[in-house]
Amino acid sequence: MRAVVFDHYATLAEIRDVPDPRPAPHGVVVRVEATGLCRSDWHGWTGHLQGITLPHVPGHELVGVVEESGAAVTAWHPGDRVTVPFVCACGGCPSCVAGDQQVCERQTQPGFTHWGSFAQYVALDHADVNLVAVPDGMSYTTAASLGCRFATAFRAVVQQGRVAAGEWVAVYGCGGVGLSAVMIAAASGARVVAVDVSPQALDLARRFGAAHGVDATDTADPAAAVRELTSGGAHLSLDALGSPAAAAASVNSLRRRGRHVQVGLLPSPDGNTAVPLARAIALELELLGSHGMAAHAYPAMLGLVRAGVLRPDLLVTSTIALDAAPAALAAMGGARAAGVTVIEPWA
Ligand SMILES: [Zn+2]
Ligand SMILES: [Zn+2]
Repeated sequence: MRAVVFDHYATLAEIRDVPDPRPAPHGVVVRVEATGLCRSDWHGWTGHLQGITLPHVPGHELVGVVEESGAAVTAWHPGDRVTVPFVCACGGCPSCVAGDQQVCERQTQPGFTHWGSFAQYVALDHADVNLVAVPDGMSYTTAASLGCRFATAFRAVVQQGRVAAGEWVAVYGCGGVGLSAVMIAAASGARVVAVDVSPQALDLARRFGAAHGVDATDTADPAAAVRELTSGGAHLSLDALGSPAAAAASVNSLRRRGRHVQVGLLPSPDGNTAVPLARAIALELELLGSHGMAAHAYPAMLGLVRAGVLRPDLLVTSTIALDAAPAALAAMGGARAAGVTVIEPWA
């Protein structure tokens, strides 16, 4: 099969012919029809993340068709249209037994712990636990956004963030996950303030329901701007970018008893990020993390997509062939194009 492979971190990946993957007894191999380009892929490519073994194939926001299933798989068969959370759970650890597969103790992640979906085929573990059927009529391009950014945003806003109609929600970072969060919060009846450094990203955020956009290049203190626009602070604020400055600003954007949800990854040499914890005490803030979403939680989200309440298809602004993926991956670190790019490995 053809795949995007890199031998060294932060060095342009190559398109290469590599052996087709084989399924584990509990796993499947999926023929990849579309796969999203995510900032986490860029973090992995730069060497910022632990757990990657070189040479490596990135890619974790995938949709496709089951090509081959292992002998122990009971629920899925060749020809099934499927997607998968980026956290593939083991199904047997205490967290999985409790229903919290998104924090599985023995999780695998395609594109991180093993070769991912910037390829024509990808192997996925524990298929009966992790695969999600793609609804009839949903295009592969649309479904490619569900495995990471959209599901991650849905859990962050709805489940961890407990958004309620009429609340103010601040979203820092209007890339794929941030724009998804804007759309989901607005569809939940919240009033959204989007924060980004890109006017194009803020335009998209307004299109997806944001009441206000704050250009972080225009103000020395975006959190103060959010507090001003929300008459005292957001009820819920998300760092959907993943930077120490955005995380701190998100916490500083909250009103009393507000909730901060950290969604963007925060790699750092010592694993630590400074946050204004004193403010969390005085204002009784809640500081929450959010890590993907378990496969069993997808139906509620998919129902809203099928009903047209949520429109992940509108987030996709470009589709590219596999040949264009290495350069697109390298470009994720620079000035971001607004919206979401989807790779079609067979195009
Ligand atoms: Zn992702
Ligand atoms: Zn587990």
